[in-house]
Amino acid sequence: MSHVHPDILSAIGNTPLIRLRRASEETGCEILGKAEFLNPGLSVKDRAALSIVREAEARGLIRPGGTIVEGTAGNTGIGLALVASVRGYRTVIVIPETQSEEKKQTLRLAGARLVEVPAVPFANPNNYVHVARRLAEALAARDEAGAFFADQFDNVANRKAHLDGTGPEIWEQTGGGVDGFVCAAGTGGTLAGVAQALRARKPGVTIALSDPEGSALYAGFTTGAFKAEGSSITEGIGQGRITGNLDGFRPDLSFRIPDTEALEIVFGLMREEGLSLGGSSGINVAGAIRLARELGPGHTIVTILCDGAARYASKLFNPAFLTERGLPVPGWLNAPAPPLP
Ligand code: PMP
Repeated sequence: MSHVHPDILSAIGNTPLIRLRRASEETGCEILGKAEFLNPGLSVKDRAALSIVREAEARGLIRPGGTIVEGTAGNTGIGLALVASVRGYRTVIVIPETQSEEKKQTLRLAGARLVEVPAVPFANPNNYVHVARRLAEALAARDEAGAFFADQFDNVANRKAHLDGTGPEIWEQTGGGVDGFVCAAGTGGTLAGVAQALRARKPGVTIALSDPEGSALYAGFTTGAFKAEGSSITEGIGQGRITGNLDGFRPDLSFRIPDTEALEIVFGLMREEGLSLGGSSGINVAGAIRLARELGPGHTIVTILCDGAARYASKLFNPAFLTERGLPVPGWLNAPAPPLP
């Protein structure tokens, strides 16, 4: 029984690295996607969730029967709910109401209690992160088993999951051949953690940020002024400040990716390579293609395939939703299918 996992948590991480055929052929580079959508909670955030809970346990910040409270766009909450089930905690998730119904439904099914709040900027005291923090404090004061605020944006146990896991895995899987790494940042845990792991092993590696519109990081890293412009239908990425997880991090290059560019890639990967992905993966692969063009042919570039398409069926794959926003609609969803014999 040497191949039995003691529980589902031990199936988190060690995800495959997948060659992206069209992106590689078009650039003359090897463009590889880390298949994080294959984690048990179906996203890259399982890693952060497990690391945050493990560290809280090690520090005695959480007790059996206690409640984990978090503000999340959804995926971290799903990861936390999964970890909480196995370890015997409850979860309360504060989520902006703009996030996809599929993610909210998955959270409810996983046993999390949901608190939906209007999507307002971080500077507003009613921003979901601040609501979650206050809720954790109120619960901790009232509930004997205690409550713990996971604080994914500023808790560096998040980044550590990628410093100790994702980054070294990429190094091993490429046999040390990785020349560039690029991804978007939500909390920045993935980007800063992988960057730290790879730079320690190969000082010349190029690390790039792939930023959606509506995020202030691209402007911040290129001009020094954190200013957001435009907007994006992608979820879980984009940031207006240097989070605790981004503290001390700087990319070598930054790209600003419009949704149209990311969506064409998501649709192409679905139809031509059997990869069923969410919008942030499209931003990431678009960034990998831009990084390949910067470095020139013959380089190996890794990015993150964060989560799957099913989580966004009602948005990214809904012709009415896309048309309303002037975004491209994938042909196979739009065209009436010819009659079957
Ligand atoms: N993509 C998706 C779909 C996410 O949910 C997240 C997490 N918010 C990210 C990317 C970004 O990951 P990180 O928080 O590590 O920056």
